[in-house]
Amino acid sequence: MENKAYRGHVLAVPYPSQGHINPLLQFSKRLVSKGFKATLATTLFIHNTMQPQSSSSLQFDTISDGYDEGGFAQAESIHAYLNRMETIGSKTLADLIIKNKNTANPIDCIIYDPFLPWALEVSKKFGIYGAAFFTQTCAVNFIYYHVHHGLLKLPITSTPISIPGLPVLELGDMPSYISVPGSYPAYFEMVLNQFSSSDKADAVLVNTFYELEPEAVDSMSKVCQLLPIGPTIPSFYLDKCLENDNDYGLNLFVSDSSVCNNWLNTKPEGSVVYLSFGSMASLSNKQMEELAFALKGSKFHFLWVVKASEEAKLPEKFVEEIGNKGLVVQWCSQLEVLSNKAIGCFLTHCGWNSTLEALSLGVPMVGVPQWTDQTTNAKYFQDVWKVGVRAKVCENGIVEREEIEFCIKEVMEGERAKDFQKNAKKWRDLAIKAISEGGSSDKNIDEFVSKFINS
Ligand code: UDP
Repeated sequence: MENKAYRGHVLAVPYPSQGHINPLLQFSKRLVSKGFKATLATTLFIHNTMQPQSSSSLQFDTISDGYDEGGFAQAESIHAYLNRMETIGSKTLADLIIKNKNTANPIDCIIYDPFLPWALEVSKKFGIYGAAFFTQTCAVNFIYYHVHHGLLKLPITSTPISIPGLPVLELGDMPSYISVPGSYPAYFEMVLNQFSSSDKADAVLVNTFYELEPEAVDSMSKVCQLLPIGPTIPSFYLDKCLENDNDYGLNLFVSDSSVCNNWLNTKPEGSVVYLSFGSMASLSNKQMEELAFALKGSKFHFLWVVKASEEAKLPEKFVEEIGNKGLVVQWCSQLEVLSNKAIGCFLTHCGWNSTLEALSLGVPMVGVPQWTDQTTNAKYFQDVWKVGVRAKVCENGIVEREEIEFCIKEVMEGERAKDFQKNAKKWRDLAIKAISEGGSSDKNIDEFVSKFINS
């Protein structure tokens, strides 16, 4: 890649969770390739626990969420966490800007997660260019935009729901904060508040790519100038333009890649179901049991990520009994796993990063969404992108073993399996095209850069 002249110092401020750090971190690396110095601000707690190493492509520095010893787990409530992070985060972000002020590379641009709208206020106080970086789909953002501006009244009393540029949605396709009124009020307020500041942002970036949701992007663009810049996935898996970029580089959980790779490499092509519920979801004991029995009953091999905090929910002796049919790990390099030829489908909680990674790597999916935007992502991959199926939930809120087994079979070898594979391959090609030089996202990144430079 050609060496670009120095264009400025960008500070990325993600919400401190894996699914928000990954895209901002990856976008920062892209900006380095375009001539910027980039620093990612993690919380002190994450920094002290993970000790991320700065490199030529990315520096790390810290702000504080006010919970330096234990992070989110130390907070009394979600509300308390978000409030304290706003107070302490604003102050420590200002300190970080001041610390850089009289250096050779003062901070010129802050790319902030709109879950943290106060970061824009801090950047404005210092006269620094501020760009909002939305980590969810354009469709999901537009739904929240409608609610925030009173264009969609809650509670929803009549369905289906029509939002310009989006497919017709049933209540169960909406983000959970909307379909389950009163659930997680602090988070609901946070996702709506993203729009309290974004119209004051100098640029609005979204981790999607145009071809994936053109109608939603066109429709939302009428009310908010946005730039789809994704997928933000290590370059090795897409355009291969950034050197040594084969991992996000900051894992909040520990994994041993060789265990997964060695195991997967002994399995035939397309024979393994990969399962993960991301970094945050916590399943009920009953749901874990249903999954475990479905996997035992199904004829396919499986690799299941069960976080340490979820392990006690597995049925007794499950790991011993499955033998070589399955592998259970606490965490893995998901990109490495998804790109292994042995993987035939991904049973996912439909977190946006996981969904986008599967689309980008051409892996069909079974969706078992849990909460937040995952339900809407599942609707899209089943009905719009047509790369898999969403499992049906029973009245008790559980996806039962027969349904899980059925969905896995359907995606692995059912009548539509070939179509899912074909469509998945199509999205992979489009994802690579979008981020490659001259593609829609690459052009949008350049537009962002020139907007910033000429500001
Ligand atoms: N991930 C991973 N290893 C795992 C499970 C997940 O590296 O074993 C990564 C995954 O690649 C994705 C992120 O963690 O980038 C999860 O983000 P997502 O938005 O899918 O879900 P969240 O964790 O925010 O619910």
